[in-house]
Amino acid sequence: MSIKTEEIYRTLLLNSADAVVVTDIAGLITTTNPSFAKLIGAEIEEIVGHQIATMVDWHGHEETDNHKESPKESGEDESDPKPVTVLTRAGVEFVMPASRFPLTDSSAKSAKSPEEKEEEEKPWGYLTIIYVIQANSLQQAQTEFVSTVSHELRTPLTSIKGFADTILRAGDRLDVSQQRRYVGIIKDQADRLTRLVEDILAVSRLESKKLQLTIRAIDPRDAIERVQQNLTDKAKNHKIIVSVPAGLTPVWADADRLEQILTNLIDNAIKYSPAGTTVTITARGLEKEKEKNNSSDVEMVEFSISDEGVGIPEEHLPQVFSKFGRLDNPLVRQTEGTGLGLYITRSLCLALGGQISVASQPGNTTFTVKLPAATLEQQAARGRD
Ligand code: ADP
Repeated sequence: MSIKTEEIYRTLLLNSADAVVVTDIAGLITTTNPSFAKLIGAEIEEIVGHQIATMVDWHGHEETDNHKESPKESGEDESDPKPVTVLTRAGVEFVMPASRFPLTDSSAKSAKSPEEKEEEEKPWGYLTIIYVIQANSLQQAQTEFVSTVSHELRTPLTSIKGFADTILRAGDRLDVSQQRRYVGIIKDQADRLTRLVEDILAVSRLESKKLQLTIRAIDPRDAIERVQQNLTDKAKNHKIIVSVPAGLTPVWADADRLEQILTNLIDNAIKYSPAGTTVTITARGLEKEKEKNNSSDVEMVEFSISDEGVGIPEEHLPQVFSKFGRLDNPLVRQTEGTGLGLYITRSLCLALGGQISVASQPGNTTFTVKLPAATLEQQAARGRD
């Protein structure tokens, strides 16, 4: 290595916010950086020469080194950081994402016999990176989520407790209509709690990647009609127009998740637009860029849901897809919602290999979802929904 390259690596190691540890084949630490020392709560000199296993516990998954190009049997991406437990000098344990890379001589460029090559590919040590920055931001996001969730849960709980207390203390002095009203409020708030818990569970399933998808070819018109039927009651004060060209290519998606996406968007369109206005639902095929063979296959199916409601100010557009991203306006205050719907909707679109976008101005908001279209082979193999 030239002196210059060495200086670059030394500077990088010294200043990296992530913790870096080099170990020999027996697991003894030979080199490390100030970030790792800080994490452990010791000086670098106190760490070098010690077993990494006394400070970093891989829970057995170091066996799958991050470099291996083996087939992904577990379905897990080998290059994904794995959670490790870091044990500090003070006896505190942190779970953090880390990767481990074998160090070999195989980069040397010379013609070698297979035996020599095999020898070179044997690692002489390992480089471990503990992603401190990522761990800190994950931790911060989790703390923020927990505190927002607690706040959101507390609001209906306070109301339920307050009205139940009143009925208990002054039940005999309340007339029947007052009692009914208070019990009605308790019921509404309990419903709100249920919705919140369901949405929070949906978020947690999506984030832990435990979402089970059953992908098949689904007729876009059928999907829209099913959702429309479920929303009949909510849509009774709106005019709903559905426009889907005949024979539109099926979408390649999970039927329940597609319904959930459409339900959230149509429900919002109804909620955030005044009674008597129109909600328009359309679906159309987006063709592949014309290729040499001049094919005109439909590549994506685009759903759009437009309403004539309050709209979303441009500066707030990015916020609507974030967790608990409720905007403050009179219609929002009047309507029930958790602020998790669009976050879930967007995550589902991405999980299905699609995209979602929004365009809005007062009197017109359009959410557009693009999902992969089923290929002819997929339609033939699975049949239409
Ligand atoms: P909520 O449970 O509040 O409906 P969502 O995540 O579905 O949560 O939506 C987030 C926020 O985006 C809503 O509170 C509302 O302010 C805004 N929003 C969503 N859809 C529309 C729409 N069609 N028109 C106007 N505002 C909307």
